Amino acid sequence: MDLMEYQAKELFAKHGVPVLPGNVAETADRARAIAEEIGTAVVVKAQVKTGGRGKAGGVKLAENPAEAQEKAEAILGMDIKGHTVHRVLVTEASDIAQEYYVSFLLDRANRTYLAMASVEGGVEIEQLAVERPEALAKIPVDPLAGVDAVKAAEIADAAGFTADVRDQVIEVLQKLWTTFTAEDATLVEVNPLVKTPDGKVLALDGKVSLDENASFRHADHAAFEDKAAADPLEARAKEKDLNYVKLDGEVGIIGNGAGLVMSTLDVVAYAGEEFGSVKPANFLDIGGGASAEVMANGLEIILSDEDVKSVFVNVFGGITACDAVANGIVHAFELLKERGDDVTKPLVVRLDGNNAEVGRDILDRAALPLLERVDTMDGAARRAAELAAAK
Ligand code: GDP
Ligand code: MN
Repeated sequence: MDLMEYQAKELFAKHGVPVLPGNVAETADRARAIAEEIGTAVVVKAQVKTGGRGKAGGVKLAENPAEAQEKAEAILGMDIKGHTVHRVLVTEASDIAQEYYVSFLLDRANRTYLAMASVEGGVEIEQLAVERPEALAKIPVDPLAGVDAVKAAEIADAAGFTADVRDQVIEVLQKLWTTFTAEDATLVEVNPLVKTPDGKVLALDGKVSLDENASFRHADHAAFEDKAAADPLEARAKEKDLNYVKLDGEVGIIGNGAGLVMSTLDVVAYAGEEFGSVKPANFLDIGGGASAEVMANGLEIILSDEDVKSVFVNVFGGITACDAVANGIVHAFELLKERGDDVTKPLVVRLDGNNAEVGRDILDRAALPLLERVDTMDGAARRAAELAAAK
């Protein structure tokens, strides 16, 4: 989960990374009130999950509360790289003598953590990495050893921080590392970290990505979720513990196992080309097991998607055999009927693998309305695409 700047800065503050006081506003009036509380010149900053806000006009200096209100009015509602601005951060403005860059991240390719630092911050770091790679220090961090004062000094010196800020940067790096590990982040980035004219080092921007696999040990992270921005179907699926992602096609997809579902998306998209570019409407992995309830929950979400014209249930029986899955589908239809959510769209089911024949027989005998059985993945994908196109 990627955080917005104001949320990232909350975590920075919690772990002692120096940030300036500020607050988040959803209206221009509120932005003005925050500027009044702060009592100095402020910066009004669009809160969207994308970089380059400054360049896009989403970061503006305001000398006084009236100006803060004006700037907030201009920024709220703005579109930045496809993200609509619903909130602004109003924060104390700082003078800048120099802009730096520091980050810690999970380096998957090298199976380690990585520290990156540069005394040429402020600019887009991807650009710096390409144009002047020597200006960006990259230091692997051993996950067990972590970042103590000695390691932090190694990072600071590799980047070439000057003596006047070296001690402060070493301190910031250690606290940033604490943020990274204590919050189970996969990225913490400060761009720019600045030196003020009176020699203080401050984080003026913040980017944090949290590892959702660790959310069970961070009850407080739930508050960071942007419920308004989430797709309503995805939100409902999440409540039901389903691995669901909304896509923009017409064929609803249910499968068991992430790999099978991903290849199902490909096969449906390919088959759909023949029918005027019909595409998958979602990703939904119901996992192992064959619980009728999980199947019913999945069908309920998919069938309530107005874009869905047909559904492809693609199951490969492994540890859970096809007869169990078939019984799950039959019970799911009953459950949906009880809930008043009758199946109203054509369903194509492909059952293969362990006990496929028994499973197919169960489906045939149940003679469920709108359900067709097609026994190959390609054939079933084609039929589902055809049914979607016919609607
Ligand atoms: P980004 O463009 O999305 O990365 O947003 P940033 O928060 O990094 O802001 C962009 C740029 O605005 C920074 O690199 C700074 O140059 C400038 N900026 C941000 N906050 C301040 C501030 O308090 N004072 C001044 N003078 N400039 C600021
Ligand atoms: Mn930035």
